[in-house]
Amino acid sequence: MDLTIYNSLTREKQRFEPIDESNVRLYVCGPTVYDFAHIGNARPVLVFDVLFRVLRDLYGEDAVTYVRNITDVDDKINARAAESGEDIRTITERTVAAYHEDMDALGALRPTVEPRATEHIGQMVAMIEKLIERGHAYEAEGHVLFAVASDPAYGRLSGRSMDEMIAGARVDIAPYKKDPADFVLWKPSTPDLPGWESPWGRGRPGWHIECSAMAETHLGDVFDIHGGGIDLIFPHHENEVAQSACAHSGEPQAHYWMHNGFLMVEGEKMSKSLGNFFTVRDLLADWPGEVLRYTMLASHYRQPIDWTKTGMQQARESLDRLYRTLKAFEDIETDEADVPESVLEPLLDDLNTPLALAALHELATKANKAKNDPTRGKYKALLLAGGKALGLFGSDPDDWLKRRRDVVVQLQGLGMAASVGSVSILTEGEIEQLIADRIAARQNKDFGEADRIRGTLAAQGIILEDGPQGTTWRRG
Ligand code: AMP
Ligand code: ZN
Repeated sequence: MDLTIYNSLTREKQRFEPIDESNVRLYVCGPTVYDFAHIGNARPVLVFDVLFRVLRDLYGEDAVTYVRNITDVDDKINARAAESGEDIRTITERTVAAYHEDMDALGALRPTVEPRATEHIGQMVAMIEKLIERGHAYEAEGHVLFAVASDPAYGRLSGRSMDEMIAGARVDIAPYKKDPADFVLWKPSTPDLPGWESPWGRGRPGWHIECSAMAETHLGDVFDIHGGGIDLIFPHHENEVAQSACAHSGEPQAHYWMHNGFLMVEGEKMSKSLGNFFTVRDLLADWPGEVLRYTMLASHYRQPIDWTKTGMQQARESLDRLYRTLKAFEDIETDEADVPESVLEPLLDDLNTPLALAALHELATKANKAKNDPTRGKYKALLLAGGKALGLFGSDPDDWLKRRRDVVVQLQGLGMAASVGSVSILTEGEIEQLIADRIAARQNKDFGEADRIRGTLAAQGIILEDGPQGTTWRRG
């Protein structure tokens, strides 16, 4: 089975052919580290995490190099330091640590290499020198600018005309620019700002050259896939591809360019002023990371996502169902299986994660129906392998289901309806689980616990009837 991906460079879906099957290379633009990641920032992380897993499955775990950079020199970081009076490094180190914690909680694998811009200044300077030498860049008043007119292929990625690009970039018409579309490779720094000595005086790099230099260092002149959010196509990736192509052989530095769609919240652009701005950390306080991951993957990566509370509730219910199936199989030992075709095939078709999730549910249905089938262990193995391909099932089913019940029971204990906040009404499986817990409590003569569970169910309008055949329930 072949992997096909939509290539923003050619504007069509293409079969993926790696340059070197023994070293498949992927670069994704990482965060600018001055504040917690918001839920939109998590989208490229999760999308390219799925791609990373698919590539590792196809070519082998050691045959994929995934580079995701950290932008730790940027005017937004400088502004934050000036505002808060904190040292730049204190801000960047703290933000990187929080980023790791948050992305780990979403089940994202760490990239193979996570280069930092401040550790690649030498490579940036060398690349800028080469661009000047080749007539693609020029120095003006302590700045070095890329001369877009020197690159006939400029615009190759976004497909925009020069006029559109100038309007879109809201470019500064600085007097030292030969062309308003020329962009900064290097700029001067004042003594209070971070700076490095260079042939053009003490200064700091522009954002785009950072990624060109880090990709060159860790992946070579030309590699396989370059990814990021759709907002990066122009100007960031357009400028990156121009710089790298002109510093190397003229070929775009990546054969395939992939871009995730944008994330909105409850139908609106996420913004602090609208009060609908969520950091990953905010959401993790109320929802398991796996619910956030499932919610993200329930939309195709190129479509816009409308992030809603209902979406998270649905994701949690879907995960509850899958975990309940796994729980029913807990005493069955199985060997590891290959990713089932029904899950792999949609993933190979331009990362169709919604279809892959639907296939997981079909597997769960088959598994549930095969309760007395002696070969039913295979369903558990397939379900686990399919989940792993999507980065799911990081929890133990018991822990997952118990935590879920605990939240409901806790809210009931506080006299709150179970539909309050992020908790929805008990599902049938949960009711049955609570009844089983009550029976176990009674067998252990823990009548207090048994009564508490009965109370929890009663508060949901669920009436228990203990009879000679066992306990039955109905909604009152
Ligand atoms: P930044 O730290 O702003 O450079 O963004 C890091 C990554 O998050 C980039 O790949 C952006 O394209 C992506 N990103 C930022 N906001 C959103 C959003 N609302 N939806 C989807 N991706 C986003
Ligand atoms: Zn970048």
